Amino acid sequence: MKKFDGYFGKFGGAYVPDSLKKVLEELENNFYNHIEDEDFQNELAYYYKNYVGRESPLYYAENLSKYIGGAKIYLKREDLNHTGAHKINNALGQGLLAKRANKKKLIAETGAGQHGVATATVAALFNMDCTIYMGAVDVKRQEANVFRMKILGADVVPVHDGNATLKEAVDKALEDFVLNSNDTFYLLGSAVGPHPYPLIVREFQSIIGKEAKRQILEQEERLPDYVIACVGGGSNAIGIFHPFVEDKEVNLIGVEPAGKGIDTKYHAASIAKGEVEIIHGFKCYTLDEKQVKVHSVAAGLDYPGVGPEHCYYKDMGRAKYVSVNDKEALEAFHKLSKLEGIIPAIESSHAIYYGMELAATLPKDKIIIINLSGRGDKDLNQIMENRI
Ligand SMILES: *Cc1c(COP(=O)(O)O)cnc(C)c1O
Repeated sequence: MKKFDGYFGKFGGAYVPDSLKKVLEELENNFYNHIEDEDFQNELAYYYKNYVGRESPLYYAENLSKYIGGAKIYLKREDLNHTGAHKINNALGQGLLAKRANKKKLIAETGAGQHGVATATVAALFNMDCTIYMGAVDVKRQEANVFRMKILGADVVPVHDGNATLKEAVDKALEDFVLNSNDTFYLLGSAVGPHPYPLIVREFQSIIGKEAKRQILEQEERLPDYVIACVGGGSNAIGIFHPFVEDKEVNLIGVEPAGKGIDTKYHAASIAKGEVEIIHGFKCYTLDEKQVKVHSVAAGLDYPGVGPEHCYYKDMGRAKYVSVNDKEALEAFHKLSKLEGIIPAIESSHAIYYGMELAATLPKDKIIIINLSGRGDKDLNQIMENRI
């Protein structure tokens, strides 16, 4: 693989202290040394197939498509993966890198708890110690996932600094990484953070787009017209987008969470409303938390920054970014459940809503692929409690 400097146009980079820079360089070397190695790739493929259950199906949602009466809608079923979402693709890849580097311990940040669960799962599988940093507020909000991580053998450390949510959890994990990098691997959960993380996460999540491309060529004998995915940090979206980037006829659309409305104080649409700033050691469109109270009905989408590669695609016009609000996402959640018997994650429901709206405006010979990033089991309490 050609060595990459970590900049997607003016975005990305590694704006970190020297102590962390050294640790990131070690990680970068580890990645380049193994990513094209046949043994490494075989081992990864083995776990993707036998542990995660890949490949995930590309399912023609015929009921939904007929109900809407426009374009054909396909769903890439990442919800069927072990642990219920795309996050395990990246956790396994980075876990194998940790193994190759003889690290004994995995640490990670988590917001909603989904990435914490994926990391704790991989730590159990590879017999490693595991510490998950989680904002104290999130620990309370996401009780079931905290319990899952503990059952899997992880230590969950509540972080009380600042707003006590995801941002502070990342800071704590980076701190631990610098201090203990001799035996510890920081398994970062989205296509964000300082270089080389956005590159590494994209590499492991690209399995989604590679499969989807092969599958649509098999089923339709042509490429799709649109590929749509929700964007939190941007890992499931970059994973399905990246193998299509060179195919100019394929429109790529990322869907950000508009929360209570894009013009209110309560959303997490970083690309739509952010300014170019440095957050967690990389440059991206970032929300000013003095003006916006980062919020989405989908806990997995409320991050004030966004992956640098998405910022770049936005600026060069290769991908388009739109937003869908809480109410619309919940409407899509119920619609897909009733029409297809598939209960989607509320995060994924953002992409589904936009895909449905778009399909309605298109003729029947157009093809849309929506990335169904996860299943909705984790959201049932929230849905029940709020009667939403
Ligand atoms: C975490 C999560 C997301 C958001 O993360 P990205 O890095 O933007 O993909 C989306 N969907 C599900 C199901 C998640 O768990």
